[in-house]
This record gives sequence, structure tokens and C-alpha cells, in this order.
Amino acid sequence: MSVQENLEGLRQQLPAGCKLIAVSKTQPVEKIQEAYNAGQRIFGENRAQELASKYEALPPDIEWHMIGHLQTNKVKYIAPFVSLIHSIDSVKLLEEVNRQGKRFNRAIPCLLQVHIAEEETKFGFSLDEVEQAVTSLDWNSLDNVVIRGLMGMATLTDNADQVRREFRSLRMMFEKLCSSALATPVRMEELSMGMSGDYQLAVAEGSTMVRLGTAIFGERNIHH
Ligand SMILES: *Cc1c(COP(=O)(O)O)cnc(C)c1O
Repeated sequence: MSVQENLEGLRQQLPAGCKLIAVSKTQPVEKIQEAYNAGQRIFGENRAQELASKYEALPPDIEWHMIGHLQTNKVKYIAPFVSLIHSIDSVKLLEEVNRQGKRFNRAIPCLLQVHIAEEETKFGFSLDEVEQAVTSLDWNSLDNVVIRGLMGMATLTDNADQVRREFRSLRMMFEKLCSSALATPVRMEELSMGMSGDYQLAVAEGSTMVRLGTAIFGERNIHH
């Protein structure tokens, strides 16, 4: 199946309120252009410098999303133009994004990444930590970031019940924060969850953004 056919099939499956982020990490510019020509406008990358060089090479109306772990010293490469950072996994990173936002005179849209999987290697706040952050950080001093929601990754497993449970735990925190964040500038509008292997479960649990690579572009080079 071509990139265009994959995109058409996915668009038919996704509910109207769910955005499709085409994860183009490791894909050459030509492949991304192919998806662009098929109407795709939102792309996600997991390395700051790769994201910045693709931004330079491709049409200016693309929305670039950062979806992977971001080191504080790399924020500067994407700060001038990035549309959404899904992977804010520490207060330290949030503060650096705020500093870079100030430098470029913009408020950078961000999601807080929450650790919901069993695996220990994945980055993110715990459910308790994210609630703590939203309700007690000094948001007035963080006025060059805009928190727009939460992101999470489920455990890589064939156990659908477990994946569903993990997505549900994130959606319940999202709903809880919708009300407890009312007194802060934090907004809870986007719930980024679901990858090629589990997006149907994520959508059923209320995802508003699915991040799909393999389902659009086919298998990646695993050594990247
Ligand atoms: C690579 C990646 C994806 C997409 O993975 P696929 O299984 O190819 O759909 C989604 N989210 C993050 C954070 C990723 O790093």
C-alpha cells in the first residue's frame, strides 16, 4: 500500500475529533513530501536536529510536532517554529522551553508526558507528579509556554486489557485536571495517545491525537 492509500484508510477510521500526527522520524524528505502531497500537514519527529533540518527542507505550512525525549540543550533548535512539544517530561525541561520561548518572543504549546506504561525506561511524570505540577507550579512565571494537554505511551504488549487500562488511567487524569486546572492558565484540550500498534484502543479511550509512523510509512530501519 502506498503512503497515500494508508493515509486515506486511516482518515476514514479516525473519529472527527482525533488528529493524525504522521511520525516521520528516519523518513527521507521525499517520503514526507509524498504524505504532504496526499494532504497530510502535521508531522512528528523525535530528534531536535532532524526536525529542524526537515523544517528547512519542506513546505512552510507543515505543523511540526516534537514527540520524543528532548534534552534541554536541544530545545533551541526547534524553539522558533515548533507547533507542539508532546514530550515535556520534567519541570527542568519545561523551564528551558519557557526560557527559549521568551528568547523567540512566543508561547510554545506543550503537552505534559505522563508515564503510564509498566516499562521502566519510558520518560515522563507519574500520574501523581503531573497533578502536582499542574496544581502547584508557578504558572505566572511560565508565560512563554502553553500547556494544552497530556501525552502518554502504553506498554508494548499484546495484552489489550492492560493497554486499555493504561490509556484509561491517563484519560481519567486528563478529565480530573480539566476541572482542577481551572484556576491556572493550563488547558486540557489534547490527549495524545496511540501509536500504530494500539491506536484503536487509544481512540476508544478518548484520544484526540494519534501518533502514527509504521501505519503510514511502513517499517522503519530499527537501528535508528
Ligand atoms: C516512533 C514513535 C511513534 C510512532 O510509532 P509507530 O509504532 O511507528 O506508529 C509514536 N510516538 C512516539 C513517541 C514515537 O517515538
